[in-house]
Parts: sequence; C-alpha cells; structure tokens
Amino acid sequence: MSRKLELLDLMQIDTSWIKEKNVIHKSLRTLSDLKLEANNCHKCELSKTRTNVVFGKGSNKSKVLIIGEAPGKDEDISGEPFVGRAGKLLTEILFSMNLDRENVYITNTVKCRPPENRNPNGNEINACADYLDDQINIISPNIIIILGKIAAERLMHTSEPMANLRGKVHYYKDTKVPMLVFYHPAYLLRSPSEKSKVWDDILLMKRITHVC
Ligand code: URA
Ligand code: SF4
Repeated sequence: MSRKLELLDLMQIDTSWIKEKNVIHKSLRTLSDLKLEANNCHKCELSKTRTNVVFGKGSNKSKVLIIGEAPGKDEDISGEPFVGRAGKLLTEILFSMNLDRENVYITNTVKCRPPENRNPNGNEINACADYLDDQINIISPNIIIILGKIAAERLMHTSEPMANLRGKVHYYKDTKVPMLVFYHPAYLLRSPSEKSKVWDDILLMKRITHVC
C-alpha cells in the first residue's frame, strides 16, 4: 500500500474507491497452473493444427514482459517463443538494451501457431485473451514491450498504424505501467531498411527504464 493510502487508512477514511494505479495488481494464480491449462486448450481452431502450445518463457519475477504475435514453425516444434530467425534478432535487440532472455518474460498474443504463419484472426485472439491477461497479472511487470501491429491492436484496442504507435510511451489499461511498441523482428528481417529505426526504440526503452 502506498504511503498516501496508509495515511488515509490511519485516519479511518474509506480508501476502497482509490485505485493504486502505478502497478498491475498481482494475481494469485501461478504461471505453471495457467500453462497446464493452456497446454490442454481447445478453445479455438488453432488447437487442431498446432504441434505444441507455446505458452511463454521466463520468470514470474521478470520486470520486462515482451509480447509478440504468434508462434511460427520453429516455435511450434520446440514449444518455446522466438527461437527462429526473428528470435535471434530479438535476442540481439535485448542485448542492446542490456537485457538477456534470462531476465525478461517472452510470450505471444496467441499461444498456438496459425497455419502457414497467417495472422491470427479475431476469434483466435479473443479465445486466447484470458491467457495473456492472466500472464500480465501474474507477472505484474514494470514495463511491457509490444512487438508489432497484431499485439498492439490486442493490447491497445487501436488500429493506428505502427508509425504512429512507435516512439511514444503508452500505459497498460488504467495503470502507470509503461508500454512501448516496437517493430516486430520478423518485419525488420523483411525490411532491412527499417532496422536503423530500432535504435530509436532501444534509446526510448533505456530512457524509460531509468524511471521505472
Ligand atoms: N514471431 C512471433 O510473433 N512470435 C514468436 O514466438 C516467433 C515469431
Ligand atoms: Fe487455446 Fe490460445 Fe491455442 Fe486457441 S491459440 S487453442 S485459445 S491456447
């Protein structure tokens, strides 16, 4: 509880209506319970074609949560997020921000691979929404990095183009937890001319992590 709330409590003033907005309230569920549930999930069509559910990887104590789009072929086979070419580029981007895979949590908007790597559709994103919301609540990160348009649309309920979303600090729901939108590493691999812009994203991340 914040100092301000403690004081109001001491003065016996009802504080139940005040939200502590600077953090995401931690859920009491565990990541392993949730993972077990997801591993047996058939809530959408993607369950019919997946090899493995790619739930996410990292510690529930991670301060940085990274959210991509959907597993690809390599991830579907291995059951781990971002292990293919895009994953290698993500590892390099993390390294430039003085982070490594051990101190972040990485997951995706949907946990099963869409056939032929098509974009996940609205039904699939909605069916999978509770898993991502629960992961966010359990991990309660200090900062969220959103990779690409699909994840940005899902978390920010916006159809704004990437160019408008990048380079700014957004906030998770009604909290003060910052969210940054980065180009998806797979897009950067397809459009090498955009790669230089990643440096702006990295610099913004470094500035933000100084204050959170
Ligand atoms: N692209 C994603 O969005 N997620 C992965 O896990 C791999 C590639
Ligand atoms: Fe379940 Fe999500 Fe996989 Fe669909 S994508 S089957 S909702 S875990």
